[in-house]
This record gives sequence, structure tokens and C-alpha cells, in this order.
Amino acid sequence: MIAKKTKSALAQKFNLLVDEPLKNYTSFKIGGPADFLALPKSKTELIRLLKEADHHDMPVTLFGGGTNLLIGDKGIRGLVVITKHLKSTIRIIDKKRAKTTLYTESGERLSKVCQFAINHSLSGLEFSAGIPGSIGGAIKMNAGTLSGDMSTIVETIEVLNQETFKVKTLHRQSLDFSYRKLHQKGFIVAATLKLTFEDPEKIKHIFKQNLAKRNATQPVSFASAGCFFKNPTQGKPAGELIEKSGLKGMRVNDAMVSDIHANYIVNINNATCEDILLLKQKVQEAVSQKYHINLETEVRMEGE
Ligand SMILES: Cc1cc2nc3c(=O)[nH]c(=O)nc-3n(C[C@H](O)[C@H](O)[C@H](O)COP(=O)(O)OP(=O)(O)OC[C@H]3O[C@@H](n4cnc5c(N)ncnc54)[C@H](O)[C@@H]3O)c2cc1C
Repeated sequence: MIAKKTKSALAQKFNLLVDEPLKNYTSFKIGGPADFLALPKSKTELIRLLKEADHHDMPVTLFGGGTNLLIGDKGIRGLVVITKHLKSTIRIIDKKRAKTTLYTESGERLSKVCQFAINHSLSGLEFSAGIPGSIGGAIKMNAGTLSGDMSTIVETIEVLNQETFKVKTLHRQSLDFSYRKLHQKGFIVAATLKLTFEDPEKIKHIFKQNLAKRNATQPVSFASAGCFFKNPTQGKPAGELIEKSGLKGMRVNDAMVSDIHANYIVNINNATCEDILLLKQKVQEAVSQKYHINLETEVRMEGE
């Protein structure tokens, strides 16, 4: 526990927000306060912050866009770092006849990188149309859809080691991606993506199609963290299992199983983390009873 005096001295020195409600930083609109919250604007600032946190033995939690996170109602102890401002110009760093390499920092929004790709006739990101959040979060989560995921286009990542405070570049051959996960410690600060040249009209058309499909089949107007459960490795997808268990529309206070897409748990107004967790448990129990399948969560839970 940090003394109140040290807390305010630290906050002043590093321009930190104190006891900041995290519901303002997540797409679920849920989450209690962070002891400290930082929005560093550069790698140097991030390293200074991490060193200071280490000096005070303070746990550090990293947020990108906060679109795959469920935060506890009592919030997060220690320092929360949000990568939102860790971005510089997206740029092409290597141009060959058919392929090109694009460089981006981790705080950049995935949607902005997609727009850049469209503007430069670059294909490869179409699968990600409409996935919210940052590039760093998308790589860490190996975000994707039925038509692809980040593992297929990531060429390198720059990772900041939280113990040595050194940045290392890792190539795709040494990266261990699996379904919705990159098994890699540390903070991704930048990445390069390998894309191919394609007819811009074709690229635009696919993006448009994918977005239209998403808007028609997902509850995009409610607060959520996307699909709540991972699809089982075999058999029916999680949404179908939940729907066929008759759970669409099931509620715990303001937490509800979406009636548009059953793998979305939505916050229809003022749901708490506790409401979401209770509903999650009910869904898991019902699916387990009917299908003998244990649904694992895709959404990451942080805090107390
Ligand atoms: C409406 C909606 C639709 C969605 N649709 C999809 C979909 O189709 N497919 C899909 O895969 N996901 C989907 N998601 C989930 C989510 O958008 C993705 O997982 C997204 O890529 C997460 O990015 P983020 O920046 O928001 O990460 P966050 O939610 O902020 O963080 C997720 C995890 O990544 C870690 N992380 C974040 N940044 C970094 C970094 N720079 N270095 C290391 N670790 C980091 C965090 O610590 C956390 O553990 C959807 C979410 C919503 C709300």
C-alpha cells in the first residue's frame, strides 16, 4: 500500500490520474478505479513509468483499446497503462513488386491501419473489418474472424521487456500464436505487417461486405467486449451452443445474453462486473448440462 503523500507526489511527477474509473476506458463500460492511470506518449515515457512502478513494487496492467476486457467493480490496484497515445505515423517501410511491409506503433487503432491499407491498395487486413481496439491488443489477442487472424500478417513485433526495460524485435518465426492468443510476455510497442498489393476496388468491396455482415449479425449498438466465450476446438461454435440452450435474452440485472448473437454478453445500461460474472456462470452451467462442454472465456478479466 502506497502512502497518500507518496501517491500524490508520484501522480504529480508522472502526470498520472489517481483513482480514475476504468469503466470510461473499456467498451463494456464496466470497471472500478485504477490506483494510478497513465497515458504515455512515447516509448521513453513508458520506460520511465515502468521503472518507477518497479521501484515502488507496483503491479502494472496494460490496456490497449479496452475492447476485450472485463474489469472488476473494485478496480485495479497499482498502475494501469493505456497505450492509446503510443502512435506515430503509419508508414510503408519496404516495397517489393507484390508485397509490402507496413510499420505501426502499438497504440494505433486497428481501424486506422485498415484505412491506411485501403488507401494504399494493400490487402491482408480485410478479415479484421470492424474489430475495435488497438494494433497491440489485436496482436496480443490474435484477433480474427472466420476469414483470418493477425498471425497471418504479423511480420515482426517490438517487445519491451518489463524486467530489463529493453526493446527487442521478434520475427514471425519465433512468435507462438494460437487461437485468440499470442504467447509472448512483455509490452508490444510496435509491429510490422506484411501485406500484398491488390485492386483497391476489390479490397474496398470485401471490407464493405465484412462490415455489413458484422452489423447485421452482431449487437453493435450495446456495450460489450465482443464474443464472450471462445469457440470450442471442435463442433458447434459457442454462440450456437448458447442459443440452442435457450439462453438468448437471459438477464442478471443489466447484464444480458444478446438476443441478436448469443455469444455476446451485453451491458444494456448499468451492469456491474458481478452481474456479468453471474450471467457467465449461468451460461456455462446450462451449456455444460446440455452439451457436456465447458465454455472458456475469450474476454479477459482484470482487477478485483
Ligand atoms: C463490438 C466488438 C466486436 C469484436 N469483434 C471481434 C472479432 O470479430 N474478433 C476478435 O478477435 N475480437 C473481437 N473483439 C474483441 C476485441 O476487439 C479484440 O480482442 C481486440 O483486438 C482487442 O484489442 P484492444 O486494443 O482493445 O485490447 P485490450 O482489450 O485493451 O487488451 C486485450 C489484452 O491484450 C493486452 N494488450 C493490449 N495491448 C497490448 C500491447 N501493446 N502489448 C501487449 N499486450 C497488450 C492487454 O493487456 C489484454 O490482456 C470485439 C470487441 C467488441 C467490443
